[in-house]
Amino acid sequence: MNAPTPKPWIMAIAPYVPGRSKIDGVTVRAKLSSNENPLGCSPHADAAFRAANDTLARYPDAAAGDLRDAIAAVHDLDPARIIYGTGSDEVLHLVAGAYAGAGDEVVFVRYGFSVYEIAARRVGATPVIAPDRDYATDVDAILAAVTPRTRIVYVANPNNPTGTFTPRAEIARLHAALPADVMLVIDQAYAEYIDADEDDHALELARTQPNVIVTRTFSKIYGLAAERIGWGYGSADAVAAMHRIRAPFNITTAGQKAAIAALADQQFVADTRAHNAKWRAWLEDEVKALGNAGLRSVPSRANFLLVLFEGAVSAEAAYHALMARGYIVRWLPGQGLPHGLRITIGTEEETRGLAQALREIVGG
Ligand code: PLP
Repeated sequence: MNAPTPKPWIMAIAPYVPGRSKIDGVTVRAKLSSNENPLGCSPHADAAFRAANDTLARYPDAAAGDLRDAIAAVHDLDPARIIYGTGSDEVLHLVAGAYAGAGDEVVFVRYGFSVYEIAARRVGATPVIAPDRDYATDVDAILAAVTPRTRIVYVANPNNPTGTFTPRAEIARLHAALPADVMLVIDQAYAEYIDADEDDHALELARTQPNVIVTRTFSKIYGLAAERIGWGYGSADAVAAMHRIRAPFNITTAGQKAAIAALADQQFVADTRAHNAKWRAWLEDEVKALGNAGLRSVPSRANFLLVLFEGAVSAEAAYHALMARGYIVRWLPGQGLPHGLRITIGTEEETRGLAQALREIVGG
């Protein structure tokens, strides 16, 4: 008997592989595989989340009005132009759903966030991969990949899984050279880890340019990954288009309340940024000291390091040896990086322990 058949473009999707959180038979010392905040979240966000639990029988605010107002106040935006999603993942999908379909092309960099390809294929569009420049985003390569069929360009800044940052002038050059009918999505999941004076001005572009959408998340520096709250900023028309396909009650009450409280605690954000900068620099030095064993890290502006293994000990071997010692990191052979491990910056204890384990494994 014939069975129902999924669409071929859906079956062409390689399923997303999340970072692991358990190791069989081993006590986990540190989960450094999903770029979460090792300091947790603001205590105010935690309290707001718990207080929201007496409203379980009621649907959440479908318009997320208070959350949009709070985001708009922090970033000086028009609340009416904020779209929100079950994580910024959903917002990335909403852009594809609104702007791409069969016969269209969606461009992103070779070592880019894996959801871009899933979002493109989901709507039947063709993913087009632009080569990198030593793991960094290459604006010229992106522009060379654009054709009359291109509908969306996704750029993460900083990028995941490389951690590289594309400066303001390069982002401006990319936007200026793109055709006006191509939507430029600047995914700022890690933007809060950048110092204010180095901001890439993506939100400024989204304020003024109808073909720019910026996405942000509460999963990273705000430490609310479990609640799945992301948002985007674009033109009124773009936001109206995305609302048509958004699930009606896509973000939870507790999540909205926790996110509002998290936004009010910018000291927690600053503390996390400082912690991350300190321990990322420390870990970069540790990796540099293992250079004679063939290790090097890609310059990172995010809350993780991509460590390349170009010596006798392979990334795969190091991955298994780290796991055996209780350190969960991300090995990414499925993303063309069989020679790399992506390691989230943890607490001081976790980061020191990870570095010690790495030294033991590669014999540095
Ligand atoms: N964009 C980038 C570059 C990411 O690395 C991630 C998560 O790892 C996301 C978006 C999605 O995050 P969330 O859906 O939790 O907002």
